[in-house]
Amino acid sequence: MSQLFLRTLREDPADAEVPSHRLLVRAGYIRRTAPGIYTWLPLGKRVLDRVGQVVREEMDRIGAQEVLFPALIPREIFEDSGRYADYGEGIFRLKDRKSIDYLLAPTHEELFTLLVKGEYASYRDYPVTLYQIQTKYRDEARPRAGLLRGREFVMKDSYSFDLDDDGLQTSYDAHRVAYQRIFERLGLDFRIAFAVSGAMGGSASEEFLAPADNGEDTFVQCASCDYTANTEAVEIAAPPKQDPTVQPEQQVLDTPDTPTIETLVARLNTLTDLVSGQGREFTGADTLKNVVLKTRTPGDAQWQLLVVGVPGDREVDLKRIGGQLEPVEVAQADAGDLAQEPRLIRGYIGPQLLAEMGVRYLVDPLVVPGSAWVTGANEVDKHAAFVTRGRDFEPAGELGSVEIRDGDRCARCGGELTIARGIEIGHIFQLGRKFADAFALDAQGPEGEAIRITMGSYGVGVSRAVAAIAEQNGDDRGLCWPASVAPYDVHVVPVGKAKPGEPSEQLDAAVALAGELEAAGRRVLLDDRNASAGGKFADADLLGMPTIVVVGKALAQGEVEVKDRRTGERRNVALASVVAELTR
Ligand code: ATP
Ligand code: MG
Repeated sequence: MSQLFLRTLREDPADAEVPSHRLLVRAGYIRRTAPGIYTWLPLGKRVLDRVGQVVREEMDRIGAQEVLFPALIPREIFEDSGRYADYGEGIFRLKDRKSIDYLLAPTHEELFTLLVKGEYASYRDYPVTLYQIQTKYRDEARPRAGLLRGREFVMKDSYSFDLDDDGLQTSYDAHRVAYQRIFERLGLDFRIAFAVSGAMGGSASEEFLAPADNGEDTFVQCASCDYTANTEAVEIAAPPKQDPTVQPEQQVLDTPDTPTIETLVARLNTLTDLVSGQGREFTGADTLKNVVLKTRTPGDAQWQLLVVGVPGDREVDLKRIGGQLEPVEVAQADAGDLAQEPRLIRGYIGPQLLAEMGVRYLVDPLVVPGSAWVTGANEVDKHAAFVTRGRDFEPAGELGSVEIRDGDRCARCGGELTIARGIEIGHIFQLGRKFADAFALDAQGPEGEAIRITMGSYGVGVSRAVAAIAEQNGDDRGLCWPASVAPYDVHVVPVGKAKPGEPSEQLDAAVALAGELEAAGRRVLLDDRNASAGGKFADADLLGMPTIVVVGKALAQGEVEVKDRRTGERRNVALASVVAELTR
C-alpha cells in the first residue's frame, strides 16, 4: 500500500447520494471525470476486470464466442435499422473531419447482424452466439448514482442467431441459465422479472434485478406464486368484464366546483337519488380519471395528445407508461398542449368525445369492458354518471397505467403483490427478426430457399454490477467484496510502533506472511505504510477485502488475528498455520 496508487477519503463526496457511489469514491476505486463518466483506479479496475472475467467464463461455457466491436460507428448503420431516430437525444453524435456523421454506439445489434451477414451464408453455419465486453455510450437524461447510471459504461452484450423460433428459445434459455450462474458467482441477490421489450421490439423479455432500496426499477413479487415482474410489465388482476347493456343510462350531473376526485366524490354523495340508485355511497374508485399526456414518435417534431383513463382512486405512473411506449416519448401535457384542443376542459374531461376530437384514448385494464363510471361531461361544472365502456365510449386500447400498489392482486393466481425496488443488472430478450429484416439477414436453406434469421439480444451491466455488488454488500464502515470479485483476497495489516531506526517485528512478519500467501496463490494487499493502527483498520474496513489479517500484539505469542470483513468475526490463529487456513 505504500506504493499503491490510492488515496482514501474521510469525507463523503458531496455529489454522491447512494452508498455504493459514496463508498467507491471514498475507497479510491473510482473518480468522477464528468457527469456519468468515471475513471477506474487500480483497485476499481481489478474489480471491473474480475466481474468481466466471471461474465466471460459463463458466456464461453454456453458456447458464445467473444469479439470486440468499435464504439465509434458511422451513422448510416443505425439509420438502416431506424434506431438513429429511435434513440433520440440518447445517443452521442459526432462528425469526422469530412463532416460525416458518426455516433458512439449505445448497443450493437446492427453491427453484430451485419457481421454475421458478411461471414455466414448457409443454414449449416447456424446457430451462432457472439458477445463482447465493451464500453457503451448513452447520453442519459439523468446520469446518477455513480456507476449505476453512467453515460459511459461497460456492458457485456451478446446476440444469438438462429434459423427458427425453437432455436431462439434454446439460445434464450441458455442465456438465462448463464445469467443465473453469473449473478450467483458475483454474490448478488437477484430476481428474474418479466419485462417489457422497449426500444427493441420483440417478444419474451426478462430482467435480472438486484433488490436495492436505491434501484431505479420497481418490481412486484407475488406472495403466493413465483410471479415476478417489473412494474412496467406487470399485469394485475382486473375485475370481471360486465355487460354494457345492463348499465343505467348515462346521466349528466351538475357538479360545480369539483375539479378534484375528492370534491367530486363529496358532491356525488349529496345527490341522494343517485346514491340510492347505486345502493351505496360513491368512492374515488367509482370515478374515471382522464389524464392528458402527450407522446412524440422519434424523429417527429410534433407532440400528439394522449388521454389515459384510470380509476379515480389510482395515480398514473408515467414511468410505467413510458416503459411500454418506448421508443415513443411520453410526458405530461401542459396548458399549452391542452390549448390545442379547446374542447378538453381541465377537471371535466370525459372519454365520450375523445374519438370525435381525434384524441387517442387508452384505458388501464382496470377499466374493464362494460364497466360504468362517473366521469367528466366535457363541460365546466358537469360530470356524467354511468358512462359505460363499450356503450358510451370505446378506447383505442388498453395500457397498464396505474401506479402499482402493495396489495394489488396477481393476475395469475390472485395472490397479494408486494413492491420492491431493484437495480437492473441484466436483460435478456427475444428480438425476433427486427434486425434480420432491417439488414436482410438470411441463410440459404437446403433447397436453396432463403431462411430469415431470428435473433436474441442479451445484456449484462458489467460496470453497473460493480456498483450493485457494492450497494448490496457494503456497510457503514465501507465496502465488502465477495471473494469472487474482490481486488485482493487477503489484506495483511501489520500494526505496532516501530522505534525510529529499529526494524519492526510486525512489519517483517507481515511481509513474510504476504509472500507465503502469494506463493500459495492468494492475492494479497499488504499495508506496509508507516501509519497509525486506527487509520489502517479504518482503511481495511473501507477497502473491503474479504479477509483481514492483523499482525499485531499477538505476534509475541506467535499468533495473528484473522478477521472476516463480512461477519466481523475475529479469531487468533497461529502464525504457522495461517497460510494453510487461508488457502483451504
Ligand atoms: P435501463 O432501463 O436501466 O436504462 P436499459 O433497459 O436501457 O437499462 P439495456 O439496453 O437492456 O438497458 O442494457 C443492458 C444492460 O446494460 C442493462 O441491464 C444494465 O445492466 C446496463 N445498463 C444500461 N444502461 C446503463 C447505464 N446508463 N449505466 C450503466 N449500466 C447500464
Ligand atoms: Mg433493459
